[in-house]
Amino acid sequence: MYKRILLKLTGELFGPPNSQGIDTERIQRVALYLKHLKNSFDVEIAIVLGGGNIYRGRNATDPRFDHAQADYAGMLATVINATLLQGELEVLEVETRVMSSLEINKACEPYIRRKALRHLDDGTLVILAGGIGEPFFTTDTTAALRAAGLNCDILLKGSNVDGVFSADPRLDPNAVKYQELTYQEALVKNLLVMDDTAFAVCKREKIPIIVFNIGDLDNIGRILKGEKIGTLIQ
Ligand code: UDP
Repeated sequence: MYKRILLKLTGELFGPPNSQGIDTERIQRVALYLKHLKNSFDVEIAIVLGGGNIYRGRNATDPRFDHAQADYAGMLATVINATLLQGELEVLEVETRVMSSLEINKACEPYIRRKALRHLDDGTLVILAGGIGEPFFTTDTTAALRAAGLNCDILLKGSNVDGVFSADPRLDPNAVKYQELTYQEALVKNLLVMDDTAFAVCKREKIPIIVFNIGDLDNIGRILKGEKIGTLIQ
């Protein structure tokens, strides 16, 4: 179905449910599933990791606290997650590279687009950490930019609901899930698919997005088999 995918995984997958921190068993489960994907599908995988289980810049609610400073802490959180996921993947003997846009050269490689492309061509799983390396952005925007830069066929955005809905399904029992949307429809209906910057990049670069429920990791495999899971925006 797809030659190369960009998988956006929120840091929430790496922490205890509904809480912050690091849950090694959950990281192991993600690693095991990624190994299964590599073994079962002929697909190149780039992963953009979030850091929400440890820290998000917007957690800093004190207005005196410098927003950029908080965002650097958030970017470092993504590097911690990436380092732990790589460790678990190596236990499982999955060839993995961590490339960070926030340079921490003793812990991981810097993100260099051409090198990332080469790793993906070689079938290596590439974990992209550190966001885009600049404050005031999110890992959703990173996912959109890297999907464009690394010529990915699709951006798979893991969510904690089943796709894009007409209203928040956790608050409104009448919320309807959309099977498919165009970028324009999502904009006109004012639907929150990703943050504005991320969405604008996908729209401009014509990167299709599937928003799906990451609560069941097997949804990724289903999408790769061609099942219509979640909401497709294109
Ligand atoms: N961040 C940033 N620049 C980027 C990407 C991320 O400053 O390019 C910071 C930002 O503070 C963000 C945090 O890193 O809140 C963790 O990323 P995110 O909130 O996107 O993680 P997720 O919600 O996916 O777990």
